[in-house]
Amino acid sequence: MVKIRTTERADIGIIGGTGVYDPGLFEDVIEVKVYTPFGAPSDNVLIGTYKGIKVAFIPRHGRSHTIPPHRINYRANIWALKELGVKRILAPSAVGSLREDYRPGDIVIPDQFIDRTQGRKATFYEEGVVCHISMADPFCPELREILINEAKKLGFPVHPTGTYVCIEGPRFSTRSESKLFRSWGADIIGMTLYPEVVLAREAQICYATIATITDYDVWADKPVTAEEVIKTMKENIEKVKKLIMNVIPKIPEERSCECHKAIYEALM
Ligand SMILES: [Zn+2]
Repeated sequence: MVKIRTTERADIGIIGGTGVYDPGLFEDVIEVKVYTPFGAPSDNVLIGTYKGIKVAFIPRHGRSHTIPPHRINYRANIWALKELGVKRILAPSAVGSLREDYRPGDIVIPDQFIDRTQGRKATFYEEGVVCHISMADPFCPELREILINEAKKLGFPVHPTGTYVCIEGPRFSTRSESKLFRSWGADIIGMTLYPEVVLAREAQICYATIATITDYDVWADKPVTAEEVIKTMKENIEKVKKLIMNVIPKIPEERSCECHKAIYEALM
């Protein structure tokens, strides 16, 4: 039964691909329809409990993976999680690699991004109030550290830093674009980080991405079959699930980072 109210609460939010969520991992799962001033989120929010911690899950592309990256209502997704009381977001995301040593199957916990999207709604502060949110360090340092440590403990190949270039899509890059992004120092490439990360900061929610590499981007000229990509993606989903289940109980109740007061210095 779908609940149409927002008295439900959650501590941790997960925005990710459908494969990442496995209802079997969580207890007492309920489905909640959340209304936001920005329209509907990608789907109803699923809320479950894991080791006593309330976790809310939104499938970024919708449950049946029908929403392309440029049509995702990022504002509604973040607003919905904020409405539910979420203070931390873990955001799995499949990416391409722009570096030889960032291999398919590796996990990257990005620390920077470059925005190459076009015209996405990237703020909650359209008018009335001017908000210049700081993005010098866009990801939550506390969440990043926990993710890196737990990934290492699990023996996963993890890169503790990385610059994620977010392209508009839905098309992939040309060879020239791919080489250009490499020359800029970008390490991985995807289509969904921006503006999700910015909106989370505006909402004062801690945010970290778990980027999993599916293949080398087009610069590498390493043709792969769809079968190979699907195999890597499936393995990556399993890694992400394990990592998330290990990370959730390690997140301290109180936040030691600055994410919760991001807005104080941003409003003019
Ligand atoms: Zn934080």
